Amino acid sequence: MPVEPPLKLRLSRLTVTSLRNLCDAQKLSGWSNLKKDELVQFILKNLKPRVLEDFCTVQEEIYFVENMAKAIKWAGSRKVIELDPESDHTIANATFTLRRSDGYEVYNIRFVNQTTDDIGTSCECLEFREKGYFCAHQMATLVRCLQEGLFKLDRWTGPMTPEVEDIILANVFRKKRSRR
Ligand SMILES: [Zn+2]
Repeated sequence: MPVEPPLKLRLSRLTVTSLRNLCDAQKLSGWSNLKKDELVQFILKNLKPRVLEDFCTVQEEIYFVENMAKAIKWAGSRKVIELDPESDHTIANATFTLRRSDGYEVYNIRFVNQTTDDIGTSCECLEFREKGYFCAHQMATLVRCLQEGLFKLDRWTGPMTPEVEDIILANVFRKKRSRR
């Protein structure tokens, strides 16, 4: 599994609402007027790393599951995810294109898998560049690569959880079989 980013980054990329819910659930006081940066500092100072790690892990799992549902839908469309035909299990390049009311959203995604134990994945979007998330665009690329047989789910060394693995097995592979 990839290395976890530091706690401060993991907290900073959550929404203010999530951070407030945490303070509330932990019965802290004196946080209601804090801006996001101050709220993160306050939480880091007042709660134990173990509590914060568990909280971030749960929030990250929710992000992964919610975005994977979108990603599976996108992966099914050749217009949204275009996989470079030269891609293989060592390097996969994809382009994500989504039409918006005010134009197009376009990002390039890249998976580099040249060592046996870790895979480097990246996307041009802010969710990845600023927050370090394995974003929905990368998830959609992963799903397409699995569909095309570039990677096997049980050999994938990038971000994964048992719950997301179940979602992929149920929605990607079952669907594929039933079409035949
Ligand atoms: Zn992205």
